[in-house]
Amino acid sequence: MQKSEFTPDDSLGKLKEGNRRYSENYPRHPNQDLSRRKETAEGGQHPVAAVLACADSRVPVEVLFDVGVGDIFVVRVAGNVIGAHQLGSIEYAVEHLGTPLVLVLGHTKCGAVTAVVEAGVLEGNLQDLSEQIMPAVKEVRTENPDISGDQFLDQCIKTNVLTVMANSFRKSACIRENVKNGTIKLVGAIYDIESGQIDWMGTHPNEVSLCE
Ligand SMILES: [Zn+2]
Repeated sequence: MQKSEFTPDDSLGKLKEGNRRYSENYPRHPNQDLSRRKETAEGGQHPVAAVLACADSRVPVEVLFDVGVGDIFVVRVAGNVIGAHQLGSIEYAVEHLGTPLVLVLGHTKCGAVTAVVEAGVLEGNLQDLSEQIMPAVKEVRTENPDISGDQFLDQCIKTNVLTVMANSFRKSACIRENVKNGTIKLVGAIYDIESGQIDWMGTHPNEVSLCE
């Protein structure tokens, strides 16, 4: 396994700083010129984080963290769900690129989560996606029977991130081992598509038992 020059907390700091620049409207657009392209084409990639995010066009991951070429390893799928392909991609980043941070990034007003809240399991090729999101919606219905509307949706989006994080531990020995020995951190967050800010959720509250 390659070792990054960044610690998990260094990476987190870099993402937080970049998002602050972006949300406060003074982005620097680093690492987006010809020299960076040459440097990474010849020297390889050493991304500081692997980010699992929604495919929503309002969640442009490199833009909202104000980073450029070779900086972050991004996996995008509607509802930021974790199937075998997504997990395999993240394991590749961790094992082969030495990426020290894994971020599961949900976002406000997520259409995929909204669709499942409103219509349940969907048809055709949306079936598998919606089945991945459904457990979080059911959990919120059971545990928060008093909330509705936007508050309900926001809670589903947050619970979906936690569910994806928990499933990442359950399905990946690579993630469990690397989190346990401190090589990587797995954190969750919600991106607000209106303010441009990230609400950082930190590590999973049950991380220790999930790593066993
Ligand atoms: Zn979404």
